[in-house]
Amino acid sequence: MECIINILCKQEDVMEKADVIIIGGSAAGATAAISCKRRNPGKTVTVVRQEQQVLIPCGIPYIFGTLGSPQKNLIPDSLLTGNDMNLVVDRAVEIERERKIVRIESGNDISYEKLVIATGSLPAMLPIPGIDKENVFVIRKDVKYLQDMLTTVNQAKDIIIIGGGFVGAEFADECKKNRDNRVTIIEKLPHCLQLAFDDEFCIEAESLLTSRGVKIITNQSVAKIVGNRKVSAVQLSNGELLKADVVIISIGVQPNVDLAKKAGLQISTSSGGIMVDRHMRLRNDSDILACGDCAMKVSYFSGMPVKTWLASVATHEARLAAANLFETRYPGLGTMGVFSTEFGDLAIGAAGLIERQASQDGYRIVVGTAKAPSRHPGGMPGAVPTTVKLIFSKDDGILLGGEASGGAGVGELVNVISACLQHGMTAYEVSLFQMGTHPALCASPIAYQVVNAAEEAVMKLQ
Ligand SMILES: Cc1cc2nc3c(=O)[nH]c(=O)nc-3n(C[C@H](O)[C@H](O)[C@H](O)COP(=O)(O)OP(=O)(O)OC[C@H]3O[C@@H](n4cnc5c(N)ncnc54)[C@H](O)[C@@H]3O)c2cc1C
Repeated sequence: MECIINILCKQEDVMEKADVIIIGGSAAGATAAISCKRRNPGKTVTVVRQEQQVLIPCGIPYIFGTLGSPQKNLIPDSLLTGNDMNLVVDRAVEIERERKIVRIESGNDISYEKLVIATGSLPAMLPIPGIDKENVFVIRKDVKYLQDMLTTVNQAKDIIIIGGGFVGAEFADECKKNRDNRVTIIEKLPHCLQLAFDDEFCIEAESLLTSRGVKIITNQSVAKIVGNRKVSAVQLSNGELLKADVVIISIGVQPNVDLAKKAGLQISTSSGGIMVDRHMRLRNDSDILACGDCAMKVSYFSGMPVKTWLASVATHEARLAAANLFETRYPGLGTMGVFSTEFGDLAIGAAGLIERQASQDGYRIVVGTAKAPSRHPGGMPGAVPTTVKLIFSKDDGILLGGEASGGAGVGELVNVISACLQHGMTAYEVSLFQMGTHPALCASPIAYQVVNAAEEAVMKLQ
């Protein structure tokens, strides 16, 4: 069923036209549309997206505890329709590149001057027996699916979460909230969150999750899902059986590139994303751009393909795509990866390379760490111990990455670290970074963690 809002051209025998078509209405698609319209107010912009209601993807875990409903976690359509854009709720089924047409499922064709593909990602599946059993869920960005999942979670006593990355860990914490149930994470690596953080931060997060009643089993994978019609248990690789009423598979995503493949677009073999240049354009068709989870990414540090699928990256790429639609304005610098999460009172975040990754990539590194209360004096209400760890290259002193743990301020602390990274700042420069502080808002200027961690590194570099 097609639903068209604010369509400019509706005569049956006239093909609909848009200066810009954006396929996808989530983080990347919505941002590309808004940014494109802002930059080109005279152009017609049409967003084609398949779902009636768009979820805020990063808010999905919070539907299961803090928010309590998918309806409380939606991106409002008014962002598009209230800003003179057309919204077509339907599935794009084909891109005819020669005629510059997007064909949509209900049979309509829309022609474009420029096309942005923002079809995102789909949950990765586990290749194990039993994943098709009832009450086994993946994390789909779909309101009805998540509502059914929430109803099932609400009735469950034993919930098993496969995958202890940030999404699995957030799900575990939220599924435990205000419920008399047992929630277990099964993680095949030695720690939860191990791909995103160094061990000390993983351990801090794990002990917080454990203190909130989540059971964590590491160094184990799930070999099969057991049950008749419905799941009743999971079997671990060591043979152990764990009772389960609900299984949530959270092992990552894969780029959704079916439409792009069908149109003959090049797909990166290493990351699975649509191959784009630094302007987010296709290499062999400059009228088509791609951004977000469906697009190939390269590392800011190495220039090699990376699998960093984050909303922050998707929106950054969407703004780049919008800037480079009609002119060549500026290239992207590559994906840095900035991210934070929170369990109870503990927030942790990272920007750029963690120590383990920097060492694996062959850097000789110097690390500086500083810990202080998030407000000053430490007795101020709401003050929590906050740690910042910065990783610098030993050879030129340039910042490679940083991690932080503590209170809610960590989200912005890692954004500060990211700004320092993007400007290629050295340990010396970060140590003289001019910050503003206030007792109720920030760490003491004497103990400001980012500056003090950098100063510790400067001492080591000297
Ligand atoms: C549970 C969860 C929590 C997360 N938390 C965070 C976080 O805290 N921070 C963070 O930075 N990232 C987070 N992420 C990652 C983030 O959600 C993704 O990186 C982001 O959603 C990517 O946005 P996107 O627009 O590229 O793709 P998607 O969100 O996947 O959206 C794709 C869009 O394309 C549409 N579409 C696809 N095919 C078609 C078609 N043929 N026709 C029409 N429309 C189509 C879809 O319907 C959808 O609107 C989280 C992800 C999940 C699953």
